[in-house]
Amino acid sequence: MSLSRDELIRYSRQIKLEQVGIQGQQRLTEAHVIVLGVGGLGCPASSYLASAGVGRITLIDPDQIELSNLQRQILYSNDNIGQDKVSAAQQRLQQQNPEIEITTLCEAPDEARLIELLADADLLLDCCDNFATRHAVNRACRRTQTALVSAAGVRLEGQLAVFRFDRHRAPCYHCLFPEVAGDTDTCAAAGILAPVVGILGAMQALEALKVLLETGADRHGKLLCFDALSSQWRDLAFNADPSCPVCSN
Ligand SMILES: [Zn+2]
Repeated sequence: MSLSRDELIRYSRQIKLEQVGIQGQQRLTEAHVIVLGVGGLGCPASSYLASAGVGRITLIDPDQIELSNLQRQILYSNDNIGQDKVSAAQQRLQQQNPEIEITTLCEAPDEARLIELLADADLLLDCCDNFATRHAVNRACRRTQTALVSAAGVRLEGQLAVFRFDRHRAPCYHCLFPEVAGDTDTCAAAGILAPVVGILGAMQALEALKVLLETGADRHGKLLCFDALSSQWRDLAFNADPSCPVCSN
């Protein structure tokens, strides 16, 4: 499938890059990325994936837009309050780029459903806001050997990790954060300064594009930590847990 004249113009600034080129752009056009959660992380992440020309994007989120979301969930406006996030996001992203296909699922998938959905996906962006979902996503991506770009932001801190389950027997999310019951460290409970999730969401899109383009340094086994107060980034290496119930067998 070759790129149309309009697509060549639309994506011309990235096609110029030696790491993208026509071939890379075609690869993006043929890719399918799932964005789980269209909130503070998912809004900027899906916006950059859509504008960069990722050919198929599936948006998943069970929630409706509330007034308190508008501070950081930048795809939505006052008029969208009460609407399903996935529908409002789809409409906005399709205006941004009508050349791509966007599918929406207004639901909170469990592990079995995620495994089903991952069957024809190249990559999943975890933009959810709770540990239970992150662990279900980790298990489903490990099982289906799908690349996972996971991020989280709370207060004035953010974290990002790329799990190349498609390539490596690498440490997984559970090795890094063993599952504990009763976690409540969400934005609703702890607060968040909006650009923190904006920065992390944009980083997720960047890492996703690099995975799809097969370019850049391999980031598996590293946790990138962002401290917004000091504006410092730190890379923490982590190892596989030999007794991890998800990835040790
Ligand atoms: Zn593990």
